[in-house]
Amino acid sequence: MRLPVLAAAAMLALFPLSAAQAQAPDTPQTSAERIRADVTYLADDALEGRFAVSKGYLTAAAYVAETFQKLGLQSGGVEYPWFQLVPVSIPVGKASRTFRVPNVIGILPGSDPVLKDEYVVLSAHLDHIGMDNKPGDKVFNGAMDNAAGVATMLEAARTFVASGTRPKRSILFVALTAEELGLVGSEYLAKHPVVGKGRVVADVNLDMPILLYDFQDVVAFGAERSTLGPMVERAAASMGVALSPDPMPQEQLFVRSDHYSFVKAGVPSVFLVTGFKNGGEKAFRGFLKTHYHSVSDQIDLPFDWNAGAKFAQINYLIAREIADAAEAPRWYEGDTYGDRYAKNAAKAPKPAR
Ligand SMILES: [Zn+2]
Repeated sequence: MRLPVLAAAAMLALFPLSAAQAQAPDTPQTSAERIRADVTYLADDALEGRFAVSKGYLTAAAYVAETFQKLGLQSGGVEYPWFQLVPVSIPVGKASRTFRVPNVIGILPGSDPVLKDEYVVLSAHLDHIGMDNKPGDKVFNGAMDNAAGVATMLEAARTFVASGTRPKRSILFVALTAEELGLVGSEYLAKHPVVGKGRVVADVNLDMPILLYDFQDVVAFGAERSTLGPMVERAAASMGVALSPDPMPQEQLFVRSDHYSFVKAGVPSVFLVTGFKNGGEKAFRGFLKTHYHSVSDQIDLPFDWNAGAKFAQINYLIAREIADAAEAPRWYEGDTYGDRYAKNAAKAPKPAR
């Protein structure tokens, strides 16, 4: 129900705008409840741990496609609506067999007559590692890894639609397959972009945000390598969230998730995780030690769903800013990855700190 205008005005006077709302008045609020619902569905035992080549994975893929459809996105599918089929080889006995399993792709077309031909990818891997045959709980539900990332991507898509203002560039929302088998789905999409060669200008990847505490900072892998950095910093700052340096460089996280496939295709990319402040270090290290790729990565972990909503909001704001910026992101001059994988692309001077 809508409030009458006068009553709404009176209430606004009673409840001053938060910093985030003051910065971006047309940004709809992301919903902790919807994120909880998505993670609950995707991490259910019925989905059998979403191994890329499994019935459970296809059920998850259908759920994402249905969500895209309900939002009114356009299908980015190739062989089937919403689906780009990716060849995935798995060992069967002593041999190996190749199956074709879907990346699920929805498109929000941009509003600018020229910039709409450029695409910002918002990606999250949908697969996990399936089931084991030990006694007891057999299902690797992958609630954090990566139902949480997919739920974040879906909530960002809802936020774009709810904003009522289409971005200037188009957005490609993608639930990727076979990350756990070696970034297979993202590598395939980066090599076979469904929107034509050279049109993807950035990837914002979501993988295993640790949604167990009210995070106060984020780590943005790749942010220091391209003009995406200042955009990430502005988006986080508008939510009162700090940008922190990589606290675990030995984990090599920059090369361990799907954005790296886009990096290898020359595309400036960024990948955020929740930071170490406000109990984050304990939560992060505890998760890696006890629950990562374990059957206990499931819905009964003490999720902070408001942290999920906040994380979705930051990633929405980042994608929004990239999509609306006058210029497409550029690698910084002298960056190792930009020089290696985007040799001929125009670079930007790295701002002095
Ligand atoms: Zn994983």
